[in-house]
Amino acid sequence: LEAKEEFEHSSLAVDVMRPRRGDPALAVLTQDSMTVEEVETVVDSTHYSGFPVVVSQESQRLVGFVLRRDLLISIDNARKRQDGVVSTSQVVFTEHAPTQPPEAPPPLRLRGIMDLSPFTVTDHTPMDITVDIFRKLGLRQCLVTHNGRLLGIITKKDILKHMAQIANRDPDSILFN
Ligand code: ADP
Repeated sequence: LEAKEEFEHSSLAVDVMRPRRGDPALAVLTQDSMTVEEVETVVDSTHYSGFPVVVSQESQRLVGFVLRRDLLISIDNARKRQDGVVSTSQVVFTEHAPTQPPEAPPPLRLRGIMDLSPFTVTDHTPMDITVDIFRKLGLRQCLVTHNGRLLGIITKKDILKHMAQIANRDPDSILFN
């Protein structure tokens, strides 16, 4: 029993987060370098409930989190309103839209639907602490960073699966893990 408790306490955010080794990369959006069409492709090609927004693919610096549902509604509304937003419009999560050539279509500004301070833990945060925060703050997901770079995501379901796995584990394998 004690060994089990120790095992649980020794799990870290990095052990529970997705993507796992071999999984497709984390699906992220960039703050001002994607078109409406590119955002739609990311959303349509996955089933995730939300997407971290990063400064750039190279930096992987987190700026916020946006829900799939809100993205779909906003893009749909913008296209319907016919205020010039088209597939090649730039999607902008920053406060000010970057300067574009005069002939470029108007940008789609989506800062308003972004959670500007999504909860994050570092990869080495013990899972008992992370679980505690999920419970206390009623989180649905939390992001995982390392040295300020976005590494992964943990959803409530990921935690429940992880806990079920630990509970089902053969006691011997726990002792020798
Ligand atoms: P749930 O875990 O409730 O099913 P999601 O559908 O958002 O929620 O996530 C399904 C799985 O994909 C989870 O294991 C989660 O960690 C992972 N995941 C969630 N969002 C992303 C993302 N943007 N990129 C990669 N994996 C993700």
